[in-house]
Amino acid sequence: MGNIVLSKVKKSFGPVTVIPQVDLDIADGEFVVFVGPSGCGKSTLLRLIAGLEDTTSGSIMIDGRDVTDEAPAKRKLAMVFQSYALYPHMTVAKNIAFPLRMAGESADVIDKKVKDAARVLNLTNYLERRPGQLSGGQRQRVAIGRAIVRQPTAFLFDEPLSNLDAALRGTMRLEISELHQQLKTTMIYVTHDQVEAMTMADKIVVLNAGNIEQVGSPMELYQTPKNLFVAGFIGSPK
Ligand code: ADP
Ligand code: MG
Repeated sequence: MGNIVLSKVKKSFGPVTVIPQVDLDIADGEFVVFVGPSGCGKSTLLRLIAGLEDTTSGSIMIDGRDVTDEAPAKRKLAMVFQSYALYPHMTVAKNIAFPLRMAGESADVIDKKVKDAARVLNLTNYLERRPGQLSGGQRQRVAIGRAIVRQPTAFLFDEPLSNLDAALRGTMRLEISELHQQLKTTMIYVTHDQVEAMTMADKIVVLNAGNIEQVGSPMELYQTPKNLFVAGFIGSPK
C-alpha cells in the first residue's frame, strides 16, 4: 500500500495562497520527485501530505482513506529529515530506536527492528557509535533508519542531501534508489537538483509558483517538455 491522491488541494498562509490547486495521483511503490525553484511550494506540498500543515481546502487520500483531517502520526508516513536532525548524545542504535520508544514498543521488538534496519543500511557495525563519529553518508543513513523502523506507508524526503558535498550526494542518491528497490515503498522526494530528479524518479512533478507545470517520467519531460519553464528546468543542464 502507499497510494496517495491529492484532490484540489489548496494552501494559503493568511492572505497569501502558495498552492492554488493541486491534483496528483501517486501510485503505490512509485518514486516521485517534486522539483522546482526555491519558494515554489515543494516543502509546503510535502508537509501537507505529511499532515504537518493543514490544507485550506481540498482533500488528501492515502490508500483510499481520507486523511485530510488526520493527525500526522496516524498517517503512517515517515518524513526523513537531514542528517543534522540526529541526537548527538545518543548512539546510532538509540537514534534509530527513538520513534519506536516513543510509540511504546517492547525492548525485544525495538532490538529486532533496529537490527533489521541497520542491516538494510549497512550500519550493523556502527550501532554503538554516536553521530559525531560517523561520516556524513552514515549519518544520513541513520536518519533514514529512523524512518524505516516505523514501516511507513510512504517515505517523504525534503532535500535530504542538500547539506552534503557533491561526491557524497552521488553516493547517497544511489543508496536511496537501491533502498527504494529493496523496500518497494512509495517515496516522495523533494529537490531542486535536476540530476537527482532525472536519475531517481519514476515520475517527476514540476512545480512553478505552487502549480504543477507537468507530470511525467524523466524521459517524457526531457523529450517533450510542455513549455519553456519545464524545458529550462529539466531539458537543459544547469
Ligand atoms: P520550497 O520548498 O519550494 O522552497 P516552500 O514550500 O518552503 O517552498 O514555500 C513556498 C512559499 O510559501 C514561499 O513563498 C514561502 O515563503 C511560503 N511559506 C512557507 N511556509 C510558510 C509559513 N509557515 N508561513 C507563511 N508563508 C510560508
Ligand atoms: Mg523547501
